[in-house]
Amino acid sequence: MTTTNTTTPTQGLRHAQLLARLEADYELHTRRLTEMVSEPVSDPEEAFTRDSLAATSRHALASIAAALRDVAQGRYGICEACDAPIPVERLEARPEARYCVSCQARRER
Ligand SMILES: [Zn+2]
Repeated sequence: MTTTNTTTPTQGLRHAQLLARLEADYELHTRRLTEMVSEPVSDPEEAFTRDSLAATSRHALASIAAALRDVAQGRYGICEACDAPIPVERLEARPEARYCVSCQARRER
């Protein structure tokens, strides 16, 4: 395998593992949403819980989809805001992270 970018073999392997996790998460949330939609809920409290779970899954799917798009464009692991590489430890904690720690903190302020 030949690469023209500066990714080290170790990073490449870790990214491959992260990609597998992103794909697994994507599948999990898609399945959850499908199940939720197919089971009618009559209890209002249960419906509320399900709605918030569905919102969480939809939000996760959007983040994962964005990360997968970055993978396709060869920008995965690069901060969206400042172009700095996102530490792999951060990606391992949150594979869908698209900002480095300081840019994320700035956005949440
Ligand atoms: Zn940044």
